[in-house]
Amino acid sequence: MSAIECRYCRGRGWTGPVHVNRGSGTGEWLDRMECAHCGGTGQWDADHLARYEKGQAHRRERVGRGESLREAAARLGVTPAQLSSFETGRRSLAPGSKDKEGRDG
Ligand SMILES: [Zn+2]
Repeated sequence: MSAIECRYCRGRGWTGPVHVNRGSGTGEWLDRMECAHCGGTGQWDADHLARYEKGQAHRRERVGRGESLREAAARLGVTPAQLSSFETGRRSLAPGSKDKEGRDG
């Protein structure tokens, strides 16, 4: 099985500088933050790449319809955060958590 370079951090395992929201309008800038898309490994497996491409296709279609993330999430019965994770390939979309994969991360 061949590993694929993470599309977000380009294989570095970190992204930055990034602004981290601490809530209530406060936050801070970090020079580097572990890449949430590959868990710091800088690599994806074929599964992850497939999820990413599926998510990107979904996003293009949604944007093409002029539908916001929030609107689409409401229509699909998921939270905007879940839909965002799906579109960026971090997670598969599992409304009602009937997805048999119990894997985390
Ligand atoms: Zn990454």
